[in-house]
Amino acid sequence: MINRRLEKSFRDIFASKDNLASYKAYYIALCNWVIRNEKMFADALKKEEKLQTLLHLNLDDYEMSGAQENGILLTNEEERIGKIDFGKNECLLDVITDTLWDIITVPADIISDCCGQGDMRYVKIHYQEGDSEPGVECAECGRLLDKQGKEVVGIVKECFPAGEKDVKR
Ligand SMILES: [Zn+2]
Repeated sequence: MINRRLEKSFRDIFASKDNLASYKAYYIALCNWVIRNEKMFADALKKEEKLQTLLHLNLDDYEMSGAQENGILLTNEEERIGKIDFGKNECLLDVITDTLWDIITVPADIISDCCGQGDMRYVKIHYQEGDSEPGVECAECGRLLDKQGKEVVGIVKECFPAGEKDVKR
């Protein structure tokens, strides 16, 4: 069961208007909350590679212009996730990871029959061998495709959201 005090402090994010003043303010508020409560999530946090990436981005590279299209409305966030009765601490981490991803990613103008959702986002793929290339990732199932729309081959070390500068829309 989730620690009730933890749940209350999460809900407090939404009680402050400053935290929801802009997408950037909201993004930072969610990151700071995770970092402040790191100990509560123990090993779960180490396994959340995507969340680790999202926590350590240079926000100057992102305009967060896709947030609304990705379904994040600042006026609706308290209703959407600020009142959920979270079952486990880990589930809360998943919701936060998805929310940060939705705020920061730019939706790709690529039709993909991936898992039927077609909800692809621009990313920058860093390979184990050291090179990197632009690609797209499905927001539903996490499948990665290169910019030609082909399945990624090679071992992916880390996958970053692509900033507006890296994306031609
Ligand atoms: Zn998919």
